[in-house]
Amino acid sequence: MTAPQRSNSTANAAADEHDESTQMRSSRAASLTPPITVLEAVTDAVLRWYNDNARDLPWRAPGTTPWGVLVSEVMAQQTPVARVAPQWLAWMRRWPTPAALAAATSAEVIAQWDRLGYPRRALRLRECAQVLCQEHGGEVPDDHGTLLTLPGIGDYTAAAVLAFAFGRRALVMDTNVRRVHARVFAGLANHRPHVTATERSSLDAVLPADEPRAAQWSQAVMELGAVTCRPQPSCADCPLQQRCAWHVAGKPEAPTPARRPQAFAGTDRQVRGKVMALLRAAHGDSVEMSAIEQVWHDREQLLRALDSLLADGLAEKAGGGQFHLPAS
Ligand code: SF4
Repeated sequence: MTAPQRSNSTANAAADEHDESTQMRSSRAASLTPPITVLEAVTDAVLRWYNDNARDLPWRAPGTTPWGVLVSEVMAQQTPVARVAPQWLAWMRRWPTPAALAAATSAEVIAQWDRLGYPRRALRLRECAQVLCQEHGGEVPDDHGTLLTLPGIGDYTAAAVLAFAFGRRALVMDTNVRRVHARVFAGLANHRPHVTATERSSLDAVLPADEPRAAQWSQAVMELGAVTCRPQPSCADCPLQQRCAWHVAGKPEAPTPARRPQAFAGTDRQVRGKVMALLRAAHGDSVEMSAIEQVWHDREQLLRALDSLLADGLAEKAGGGQFHLPAS
């Protein structure tokens, strides 16, 4: 069945409405965006600061492949970089290319993931490597749309790979970038819980037009948010003290306090981690249920955690009530 056609006048009205709303968003974004000379000065200050203060992380070394950058971004999604760094080195030594990882077993990748947390990421990374080999000649693609089709790759990771692996102008929006932006340009204590079209436009307006400079800015501003402009900022060490709207305004409190980080102790996540540690330590052998019952006192919670690991493909049930890491 053919979709009904809109009349010209209705279509024109909708287009006008769309244009007007786009203009309103653009002008709101523009109102948050300082003049180009100020932007240039802010960018220069942050790039100089990054040059002098960037942490020595292994995936920033010259010669790191796009695959290495992609692996680092997946590992660092929910894990502090200090814990990621040694794991990334070991991972890249073992599986330096998508082809190498694509041939690994589930048990191998889960064991190598070790205690990085959220171990489904390890399986998704292997799926990603397999798709790269099957559909992209074993190479990481350099366009946003194709990156988004890969398993485990969302908007943030696709943009980060484009910027940090290929030196492209891409809107890298993690919580650190958004916090710095909210403070410096909007004078807010923190960013809003969810990304809005206005915030996206505003971040895009600040991103330098030049591709390599945009990629360096994304890296540098993210580092500033991770190291200095943390939730409790170290403004005395910040290159933007004199230019940060929130700092200059005397750091007014947010109307609603920032969300506290989710507690870990006592959660199903903690129980899952304990069961996974036991299965990893068995190096592929099966583990008796009686041994698993030793890792947590609340049997109902333990069984729930075990069921979720089975459902996620992170553990398998053997005969005789035993469990092990997935075999294939
Ligand atoms: S002056 Fe303080 S609040 Fe502003 S960007 Fe620097 S560290 Fe963040």
